[in-house]
Amino acid sequence: MRMWIDQSKCQNSGLCEEEAPELFAVGGDFLAYVREGDEVLDQPGGEASQAEVPDHLVGLAEDCARACPASCIHLVG
Ligand code: SF4
Repeated sequence: MRMWIDQSKCQNSGLCEEEAPELFAVGGDFLAYVREGDEVLDQPGGEASQAEVPDHLVGLAEDCARACPASCIHLVG
């Protein structure tokens, strides 16, 4: 499964990074980005930057997508 964030809708709540720092990182612009291992996919971000979610973290990613107040975390596949 892959995951991306629509930064144009992110409300800067920081909730995703709080709940799953292994999947998300808030950038210097205060918007959330997906993380793939040690790499934060903030260039360019959005749908063009999709992180592969490891199988053991899929449930957590789904929980975070449901909890996001802006509904801007998208799971694909
Ligand atoms: S939970 Fe949603 S609104 Fe909050 S920082 Fe993460 S992506 Fe943005």
